[in-house]
Amino acid sequence: MPGGVKTDIRTYQLYINGEWVPSQSNKTLAVYDPASEEVIAQVPDANGEDVNRAVAAAKAAFEDGPWSATTAQERGRVLFRLAEKIRQNAAMLAELESRNSGKPIVEAEFDIADVATCFEYYGGLATKILGYVNPVPDNAVSLTLKEPVGVAGQIIPWNYPLLMAAWKLAPALAAGCTCVLKPAEQTPLTVLEMANWLTDVGLPAGVVNFVTGLGESCGAPLVTHPDVNKIAFTGSAAVGKVIVKQAADTVKRVTLELGGKSPNIFFADADFEAAIDGALFGVFINQGEVCSAGSRILVQKSIYQNFVDAMVEKSKKIKLGAPLDRDTKMGPLVSQDQYDRVRSYQEIGKKEAKLATGGGRAEKFAKGYYIEPTIFYDVSNSARIAREEIFGPVATVIPFDDERDAVKIANDSPYGLAAAVWTRDIFKAFRAVKALRAGIVWVNHMQPTYVEAPWGGYKQSGFGRELGPGGIEEYLETKQVHINLNEQPIGWY
Ligand code: NAP
Ligand code: MG
Repeated sequence: MPGGVKTDIRTYQLYINGEWVPSQSNKTLAVYDPASEEVIAQVPDANGEDVNRAVAAAKAAFEDGPWSATTAQERGRVLFRLAEKIRQNAAMLAELESRNSGKPIVEAEFDIADVATCFEYYGGLATKILGYVNPVPDNAVSLTLKEPVGVAGQIIPWNYPLLMAAWKLAPALAAGCTCVLKPAEQTPLTVLEMANWLTDVGLPAGVVNFVTGLGESCGAPLVTHPDVNKIAFTGSAAVGKVIVKQAADTVKRVTLELGGKSPNIFFADADFEAAIDGALFGVFINQGEVCSAGSRILVQKSIYQNFVDAMVEKSKKIKLGAPLDRDTKMGPLVSQDQYDRVRSYQEIGKKEAKLATGGGRAEKFAKGYYIEPTIFYDVSNSARIAREEIFGPVATVIPFDDERDAVKIANDSPYGLAAAVWTRDIFKAFRAVKALRAGIVWVNHMQPTYVEAPWGGYKQSGFGRELGPGGIEEYLETKQVHINLNEQPIGWY
């Protein structure tokens, strides 16, 4: 804090069944400001008992409560009102998000605007959940009905805290599900603030519950709970694999968004200035803590050296600074753990490839988890820094010969979340679009994300899709109904 002034440390409780309640153990977790490294809040360290209470509330709200009896119009209106509340409180939420996660305030403002848009979009979709009449060859009416899956357990990461909560809550509520959501231990604050408005906007008690705690003691009991019908998870591939196994015993529906090592491909005929900007933006936005970060930058050999030089020059102008400073383009990483992890990859990179710029801590800051924007070049696609998700401001630049070579390198990854291709040749662009094994492909851009369009990965980037009209399907079951119109008995006996 400037001048050593400490702001109040806020203490939060769990939000269960429409009320603030202490955790069963009364233990708490400290929440930090990653720029000052100071504690800014305490939240409950919830355990399995707390998860049981939250799931019981969600189950009761689904089975007995008014939520399952609401009309789609009513659910839509609740989501519209929530979107309005978010907009009215956008400045406070953006500031809190920025302080807690380290992301630049300007990016936090974009995130919060997207949160409101997400609730609004699914509010509109609530009334567009359609069934079918199936043309069966009999004297019968065959219907397909879409019904909410039930209690949804939702586990989210720290890089886009309130936005990830919105991506999960909005479609679930539109579908008629009830929710127990666990924010990441590092960044629970904006989610907890949102709880203050849930009753006001018309959500009955128990429809949305927030439990704060650690992955193993709070996330895992949610995944294994027999009354949770579906788990939606965003986070690391390592934890995603654990979740699939943990969910198996109760045969839960699972959707996973697990990040990646996304290729950003630059052909020699791309607009050079736009390409340099796109390469840097693609990998350094949100300090590189982005699941779709374009962390493998593939550049055609004829422009390769100029490209690396131009990237280095421009990267030096990226302003690192205090998250709440409006000129800041990169803030600190979210935590000491993440800082240590990214620093270790910088050291691995120095052994595996050539360092063009960065490579260490941003030394001008006395405190805070600041890392220099780092660019490695002449990177082999088999190097660890080209294969493993670093989740920080570390770019790997890889040269390629031609179209075939570019696609081959791009697809040679266990991941397949996103990819981008830069060229002025529409035919080349479309050939690449078809050949790339990724759930999202951008042409002459990287990172634009819209609530209206599907999001999710191929391969080990996960399965299921969030956002877009299909996002709601992940929270729906399909029921076939057969209505016999014959008056005579029709069995075999
Ligand atoms: P993580 O461990 O995958 O955590 C994501 C969420 O899952 C958190 O809420 C976490 O709880 C919870 N969790 C952890 N173990 C669990 C378990 N056994 N059962 C149920 N839930 C569990 O990610 P992280 O610790 O934040 O970061 C580690 C790495 O993951 C990063 O360096 C990055 O590579 C990757 N990551 C990817 C994304 C993405 O968008 N794809 C986002 C964030 C991180 P805690 O609060 O205790 O962590
Ligand atoms: Mg963790």
